[in-house]
Amino acid sequence: MPILIGIDVGGTNLRLGVVEVDTAGLVKPRLLEEVRFQADFSSLCQLHQQAPELAWQQILSTIANAIHTVAAKYPEVSAIGIGFPGFIAPDTQLILQSPNFPGLRNVDLSADLSALIGLPVITENDALAAAYGEYVMHPQRVSNLIYLGLGTGVGGGLILNGQPFQGQHGVAMEVGHIIVQENGRRCGCGNSGCMEQYASASGVAISYFEATQQQSSAAEIARLAESGNQAALAAYALAGKSLAQALAHMLKVIDVSEVIIGGGMSGAWALLAPSFQQQLEQDLIPALRGKVNVNVSTMEDHAGMVGAAMLVSYLTHVGSVIRADNYMQQRLA
Ligand SMILES: [Zn+2]
Repeated sequence: MPILIGIDVGGTNLRLGVVEVDTAGLVKPRLLEEVRFQADFSSLCQLHQQAPELAWQQILSTIANAIHTVAAKYPEVSAIGIGFPGFIAPDTQLILQSPNFPGLRNVDLSADLSALIGLPVITENDALAAAYGEYVMHPQRVSNLIYLGLGTGVGGGLILNGQPFQGQHGVAMEVGHIIVQENGRRCGCGNSGCMEQYASASGVAISYFEATQQQSSAAEIARLAESGNQAALAAYALAGKSLAQALAHMLKVIDVSEVIIGGGMSGAWALLAPSFQQQLEQDLIPALRGKVNVNVSTMEDHAGMVGAAMLVSYLTHVGSVIRADNYMQQRLA
């Protein structure tokens, strides 16, 4: 069976998943191994903001070295799929911009990396890749699904009629920038009051700092909340409320019944859930209340890697034998 590598590019690490895909498309893809590499691309881009070409060459060589390391063990690897945190042009696959990686603009990861490693490479937005991974591995037959990734920011991915929705300009489902607070916190996107300024890990840290003047990570604040700290509880309650406000807007536009929450902060879902549920019930159109399944991902943060690998077969016809579409049709039949 073809072996692909799906890569999840994070701000401070790279995760490579070796994924086995059934050529006939009859069984689910299988994650054979996950390999993690430390790679602080965010700091690298900050450092070389005036010389982004320097940062780019280092990013490329780091990813290429990681692939070489993994491919040495799996020489049959035939293609690479990458989930990258940024706006990806659906037609050219250019990374137009990446809020996490300042300075990077209009870079061609697929072509540049392919030239280095000699294998086909495709690049998509990381949250869309995760949405596709969740869709491919979903235990039930669903054809529409929203994925929300809670991390440093909040990413979103949409599967519509069984297909990853790419949009026209690479900014589809940038849901973290749905405005939920009038005259709210300034956001890196240039607006104010964006949902991710409240519902992301950094948003929770800001909320806690505003109340206590203490710098803490979202994980530390979660521990404080679990021990009853009121400021910490309030920071998570505001995060849950903000996420629900934005999701209610999304559901009024895209009427789906399946929502999956992933990303590093989804582990603290118990702290977000009460205010989230209350706000979602309040904001949804009454006809939708009680009809939307919101669940935390059960894929242990593997969705991005599996989805990136599966997008290779969706977006290209690498080797012309990998038929994810067959697999989907079987499942949806
Ligand atoms: Zn914003």
